[in-house]
Amino acid sequence: MGEELLTFRLMKIANYIDGVFVEPQNGKYIDNIDPSTGKIYGETPRSTEADVTHAVGSAKKAFPSWSQLSASKRSSFLLKLADELDEKLEYFAKAESKDNGKPLSLAKKVDIPRAIDNFRFFATAILHENSEIHDMGTSGFNYTLRRPLGVVACISPWNLPLYLFTWKIAPALAAGNTVVAKPSEITPATAFILSELIDKVGFPKGVINIIHGKGEDAGQPLVSHPDVSLISFTGGTTTGEKINRIAAANFKKISLELGGKNSNVIFSDCDFDKMIQTTVRSSFSNQGQICLCGSRILVESNLYTRFLKAFIQETKKLKIGPPKDPKSDLGSIVSKDHKEKILSYVELAKKEGGEVEFGGESITLEGEYSGGFYMSPTIISGLDMSCRINQEEIFGPIVTVMPFSSENEAIQLANNSRYGLAATVWTNDLKKAHRIADNIAAGIIWINSWLVRDLRTPFGGVKESGVGREGGYESLRFFTEPKNIYVDLK
Ligand code: NAD
Repeated sequence: MGEELLTFRLMKIANYIDGVFVEPQNGKYIDNIDPSTGKIYGETPRSTEADVTHAVGSAKKAFPSWSQLSASKRSSFLLKLADELDEKLEYFAKAESKDNGKPLSLAKKVDIPRAIDNFRFFATAILHENSEIHDMGTSGFNYTLRRPLGVVACISPWNLPLYLFTWKIAPALAAGNTVVAKPSEITPATAFILSELIDKVGFPKGVINIIHGKGEDAGQPLVSHPDVSLISFTGGTTTGEKINRIAAANFKKISLELGGKNSNVIFSDCDFDKMIQTTVRSSFSNQGQICLCGSRILVESNLYTRFLKAFIQETKKLKIGPPKDPKSDLGSIVSKDHKEKILSYVELAKKEGGEVEFGGESITLEGEYSGGFYMSPTIISGLDMSCRINQEEIFGPIVTVMPFSSENEAIQLANNSRYGLAATVWTNDLKKAHRIADNIAAGIIWINSWLVRDLRTPFGGVKESGVGREGGYESLRFFTEPKNIYVDLK
């Protein structure tokens, strides 16, 4: 394992295909930037169709023996990988923070522990699976076999790099598929060092292949490859639409976890202090770059003034700083382009008549971090739901705050979106909480909380936030194909 990479002087990433670390066939690389300093610190293969063909071929070759291994053998490979990752938690957290700009404390507490959990969860879930039988009495019975599909493609985004990468490859492998996975070209580091662990653990060659590169060069040929029968994709809605067209034309099984524009619905009868603390987290954790962050905050009008004052006061306390500083609450935005995009929305908000209640500024740190991509958490008021700021996914530390005066209005505002990923509801009236939760069009609702995750639950969105569900048995069902067999007893 490349411990020397801990210094991150220059991380040269390789593809991992057929159990071998290989260069991209065209010899081309993309610069990998450390967003906390703005400096190049490594290079990532700019893979193309030739590398994809190699990877898919190796996964296809590996499929028969991997899929025929017993569940307990597959499980033990995954558990070993989880243990290795656990041992290197600190190392992976540093790599994740460096690559993405997120606070090291967050990577240590959330990203890497969750990646470990993903492996352990699915490695043990397959040990407890049952088959279904539909009994027809004395005339006969049906039994259902669930079999892996073959070579599957797993494509993940940059915001929770290893967390979401493993959320896909763990169930795919556990269910007996072989995998070609592509992490985001913006944050490839932890997927690469994971391939070093996969190699160390001794997974059979070709069972898991990791290729690096841009979406159009490597991702598109991967999802289009005729030997890829299933696609698990997490990323933007526009990309998801493109991939969905390819999948539809080729009858591939697909799951799409896409963008969001989540609402927080806050009633005056909530537990105020808990709500404020949680709303600060749900707005600005990971610099607001979590698909589940609430970006449209709806507050009952009799609480609005008190809410805004306290929310601004608590947001002011957030410290923006170098990701490795344990005191930093917010690190850097993932890239220069993304920061510029986020800041352009602040300008747009002003043009649309919004008032910047707090933040909205680019921030320059001192010394080695002066070239990093920092900005302040931003609170905007005074906009109605139809404006672009409230309709488009910004995916950064910007929230809007709006009052509502009735339950119906709150529901209408929350549902006035092309997205439907998640929402939070804040009230101590249990019946009202259920009513609102049931009427908001979203795949995931938290009542009086945020981001409490139980890996057994279905995860995914409605409308343009996605198609299908992953998580728990939903994942294991998605990564297998059921076959019903009828036995006649007459
Ligand atoms: P993106 O769509 O730009 O890229 C995601 C991945 O797709 C990357 O690996 C990229 O290289 C690849 N890709 C891009 N074009 C492709 C193509 N034509 N064919 C195949 N692959 C292609 O998204 P991003 O900017 O990396 O991530 C941010 C987005 O992800 C946000 O919209 C966010 O809401 C969403 N997201 C959703 C969830 C969820 O669970 N619903 C979780 C995290 C992030």
